[in-house]
Amino acid sequence: MNEVSPELRWNPQLGDWVIVSAQRETRPWQLTTTCPFCPGAPETLGDWDVLVLPNRFPALEPKAEKPALKPKSPYKVSKANGVCEVVVETREHEGDLCDLSLEHMAKVIEVFKSRYQKLGSLSYVKYVLIFRNKGAVIGVSLHHPHSQIYALPFTPPKIRRELNNAKRYMRRSNRCLFCDILDFEKSDRIRVIYENEAFTVFTAFSAMWPYETHIYPRRHVQSLLDLDGEERLTLADSLRVVTATYNNLFDFDMPYIMVFHQKPVDGKDYGFYHMHIEFYPPYRDKEKLKYAAGIEWGAGTFTYDGSPEERAQELKEACLKAVRKLKGG
Ligand code: ZN
Ligand code: ZN
Ligand code: FE
Repeated sequence: MNEVSPELRWNPQLGDWVIVSAQRETRPWQLTTTCPFCPGAPETLGDWDVLVLPNRFPALEPKAEKPALKPKSPYKVSKANGVCEVVVETREHEGDLCDLSLEHMAKVIEVFKSRYQKLGSLSYVKYVLIFRNKGAVIGVSLHHPHSQIYALPFTPPKIRRELNNAKRYMRRSNRCLFCDILDFEKSDRIRVIYENEAFTVFTAFSAMWPYETHIYPRRHVQSLLDLDGEERLTLADSLRVVTATYNNLFDFDMPYIMVFHQKPVDGKDYGFYHMHIEFYPPYRDKEKLKYAAGIEWGAGTFTYDGSPEERAQELKEACLKAVRKLKGG
């Protein structure tokens, strides 16, 4: 057994942290034995409908040790203090978010909210990232429906960039960047896929992934903590509709990455930010995957083959089918 603590290594060229954890090398890949998340497994005894478990192969640890290496500038290292959790969304071994009832989905969101709050109150946690990986092509090792939470000791680069841009936008125009995007999409309509009482779903104007969609609360809120019970229910509806839309797009279960973008939990004021949820499915059509390769990984610039507006049209049609199935039973 390897008891080496994970550590953070600073990439001075990019100004980003990398989480290095020797331990995770040993994590299972596409388990074929019994499912550790199904009821009756050692960790899943008892009565539950949504279950939070510690990640058995955490990239971060609450009591991570000081890194052994003490490199000189420009290198630096730091303790990988944090928490990695798994949210088992249902007792059922199969399915997607759209297969949960509306009430059950709302319960999952409530769990997300309370973990965001709880983990966010830990002194060493600066950011709580809630995400969901679905499908073997995304690299999912366990099939049973689950999301993950990483409570990080820093605000990750993508969020940092959004925060910086939103702050600058607010300073310049006295308006929220995300509220303005919403206004534009709502008047333009071309990329809007679905809307309910409190949320708008649309394909991103400058999408990086072919069928990328975003879910925005129409109210200017910074995290799940700001949503009331009614809004959580409408968020549950949005998540079910988006995942059902993806599964209706082609004749297969669509893999995707889902990520919640919320404000950091370092106690500072982020009134200029606006929470939202992003989905990145890896397919560009029924048969072909979109790969991030040279231009994407090598330069950080995404290329988009096709038109987001045409794909929005396809998604709208899939959404109509999905909603009919979800609401008609
Ligand atoms: Zn299972
Ligand atoms: Zn806003
Ligand atoms: Fe975002």
